[in-house]
Amino acid sequence: MKKTETPSFLRMIKNFAIESVDFIREGAPVCSEEQYKERITLCVECPEFKPATKSCGLCGCHMPVKAKWKTASCPATPPKWDALVFNPKEMEIAKLKNEKEKEEYMTVNATMLSSLKSVGKRGKK
Ligand code: SF4
Repeated sequence: MKKTETPSFLRMIKNFAIESVDFIREGAPVCSEEQYKERITLCVECPEFKPATKSCGLCGCHMPVKAKWKTASCPATPPKWDALVFNPKEMEIAKLKNEKEKEEYMTVNATMLSSLKSVGKRGKK
């Protein structure tokens, strides 16, 4: 597999923010230990994986965190692992359990995206 260029710091933050919003929107569903191990094994064996930072060379995300999120998927073409489907009941439980956490995440993400926009505007001047 041909190695690609690591995304810029800004691109990494943006990718992670997008993944976070999807994760929170769906009620913050996490993988089982088995699902997580399966994903992280694929990452560790992948040529795009950066062992020093435990991050993906394509999206820049920290894989020990991202691989736990059911909504996350591998950015490779074709993906080495996909988002996991979870049932509606599981989704409801996750939403109720994480309602407070979700509010906090949304606030943090809104602040982060707002900061990114202002950095982008400053960069254009
Ligand atoms: S997310 Fe996909 S491309 Fe990135 S390190 Fe894992 S397996 Fe490789």
